[in-house]
Amino acid sequence: MKQPINSTLKKKDTVQIIAGKDKGKRGRILKIFRDTDRVVVEGANIVKKAKKRRNQQDRGGIIEVEAAIHSSNVAIICRKCGPTRIGYKIEDEGSKMNKTRICRKCGEAL
Ligand SMILES: [Zn+2]
Repeated sequence: MKQPINSTLKKKDTVQIIAGKDKGKRGRILKIFRDTDRVVVEGANIVKKAKKRRNQQDRGGIIEVEAAIHSSNVAIICRKCGPTRIGYKIEDEGSKMNKTRICRKCGEAL
């Protein structure tokens, strides 16, 4: 079975959009939907939604919200290389195995 490319992303990771209308934008991950492999990135893929009036005082109108994008359209940012892919370093510490996320290009911890 094929692993989703960015299945290892976490909330608050800073990512860059690598496809679509917001290509090049950077932002933090606000939400992750593991089942559909989609993420919500701060400030990216903004869509306008009509808000219903709930009462006389509420004027309703249009609000802007971030819509989820497929995780294959984002790349995690490495401080040294910029957008990159996630790799893993496994260290055997005797009593336990330590798994760290690293940049696949330079090996820097992410
Ligand atoms: Zn790197």
